[in-house]
Amino acid sequence: MTQKDYRVLLFYKYIAIEDPVTFAAEHYAVCEEIGLLGRILVGSEGINGTVSGTTAQTETYMNHMKADARFKDIMWKIDVVEGHTFKKMHVRPRHEIVHLGLENDINPLEITGDYLSPKEFMTRMQEDNTVVIDARNDYEFDLGHFRGAIRPDIETFRDLPDWMEEHKADFEGKQILTYCTGGIRCEKFSGWLKREGYGESVGQLHGGIATYAKDPEAKGQLWDGQMFVFDRRRAVPINQVEHVIVGKDFFTGEPTERYTNCANPECHKLMLCEEKHEAFYMRSCSDDCRRAKRNFFVAENEWTAEQVEEQIAIIHECKKAIV
Ligand SMILES: [Zn+2]
Repeated sequence: MTQKDYRVLLFYKYIAIEDPVTFAAEHYAVCEEIGLLGRILVGSEGINGTVSGTTAQTETYMNHMKADARFKDIMWKIDVVEGHTFKKMHVRPRHEIVHLGLENDINPLEITGDYLSPKEFMTRMQEDNTVVIDARNDYEFDLGHFRGAIRPDIETFRDLPDWMEEHKADFEGKQILTYCTGGIRCEKFSGWLKREGYGESVGQLHGGIATYAKDPEAKGQLWDGQMFVFDRRRAVPINQVEHVIVGKDFFTGEPTERYTNCANPECHKLMLCEEKHEAFYMRSCSDDCRRAKRNFFVAENEWTAEQVEEQIAIIHECKKAIV
């Protein structure tokens, strides 16, 4: 078996699941038996997961799911990878299988935006009178997004209704298109837009960016940067025709697509950061994090509190010089 014999599966299905707790426990046993690694969330509204395994293991899993009438039409997004992309296997019961935190939850089986194929989405994206909204988190948007897409300036989806209300005029009479990684967030987000009466029409990218990237006609076009993924790979390429870097180094603003976590374990913030800048900024997002008790960078380099303060002073001097 070569290193290339591994796959990552990304999938979801909104469907009623009775007793998600029992389901999760039994499902974990199945995944464990097959030898998969990854993360699956189960709720009374459905299932959402991403797992890695050998080609044979992932085939076994997909066959297992297809044998269940509830899951036989799942749209699988399959990536070839070099080895497992997860460290552990988790199957967890959750109230929401994708965290949106909307006050008035949406059931996509009742209301959702129009499903658009990658080709259709690409065509519509270029039409006049169209707004494209990114339904993911800000740190995902920062690494890559559809050209011209809007990123709602919010911390969590809980703030979305207020933000949309403030920008209501921008959406009046428009064709609204939404997209996310695998399509699961948009099922609810586009449904919410429809229910709240936004836009002339609301469409969602069926299968998400992951499907768009592999579509033989769309070829990932009009995507700038890379796509953020929640596994060891962090960033995956989307646009097969051109590669425009939109990611910016957290400290210097230089173009980059490399992620690192803040060295303060209490913060752990994901930052786009070139390796060459890590040491200078102590791989920390703020002075508070640089001074944090258990800062990994400080521990690795065995710095004293004095040395930390010295470096902080140098960082501030340098920032002044740049300005
Ligand atoms: Zn931090």
